[in-house]
Amino acid sequence: MRTQAAVLYQAGTDWKVEEIELDPPGAGEVLVRVAAAGLCHSEEHHRVGDIPFAGPMIGGHEGAGYVEAVGPGVSLAQPGDYIVFSSIPNCGRCPSCVRGRQNLCDVAAGIMTGRQISDGGSRHRNLAGADLTITCLVGCYARHTVVNEASVIVVDPSFRPEAACLTGCGVATGWGSSVYAGGVRPGDAVAVLALAAKRGRIVVTNIYPMTDTRPRLALSGLAQWEKQIVGCIFGSVNSRADVPMLLDLYKHGQLDLDAMVTRTYPLEGINQGYQDMHDGKNIRGVLVM
Ligand SMILES: [Zn+2]
Ligand SMILES: [Zn+2]
Repeated sequence: MRTQAAVLYQAGTDWKVEEIELDPPGAGEVLVRVAAAGLCHSEEHHRVGDIPFAGPMIGGHEGAGYVEAVGPGVSLAQPGDYIVFSSIPNCGRCPSCVRGRQNLCDVAAGIMTGRQISDGGSRHRNLAGADLTITCLVGCYARHTVVNEASVIVVDPSFRPEAACLTGCGVATGWGSSVYAGGVRPGDAVAVLALAAKRGRIVVTNIYPMTDTRPRLALSGLAQWEKQIVGCIFGSVNSRADVPMLLDLYKHGQLDLDAMVTRTYPLEGINQGYQDMHDGKNIRGVLVM
């Protein structure tokens, strides 16, 4: 089928919104009509050259949409389902998943290749016939995408896509970094930058630039005050359980997703959305397809 996507051809250039060819879903894969996609800063790292990528690449790993078709053997979703993309796949079967570490799912080992989990192929091509990779195995800066079923979380269809999509990356990462990795409880005092009290825990959830090797540390201070430094990816969440849970908090007024959606843009407005992020005009811009 023909659809449209925002493609990054090389670092230092803008996103190019263009027609692409999309194959039907293969075994274990689903075709999703994307409804909304958050403008996460991670793609901007690729665009400016901080993080290398296998290109040309369709961006977008934080999104929500509707399953339109499924390939053979799919059991986690069916046509008509409303889904949030899991920005790290969650297969539910690998050793990491069955031990409760779904954010470290083993099938994410090839996430930087941007190619399908099942066969290493690509379902997306530009009109010149070149394979297109997909960010985080999602590629939701597009009107449609094909992903492995491990990358979709079926959720209650009542949540508007602009808000729901945030739980697939940014909100899950922020919430889980605090609650799971940081062990934050109601009443705790926390600093959102590195600044630790006795027995304080520093959660490293963002690295900029990617090759950064700092900081140098006085290790005696870690020992004497029992400080801890822990790494954290995707908020240490189990997306299959925590995305619906975060949406439930939203439903009951305990998590204000609406306030985090500063501005919305059409797919063609992607470059403006990222410029507005740099200019401080949005905290989270969201593409609405
Ligand atoms: Zn993200
Ligand atoms: Zn897994």
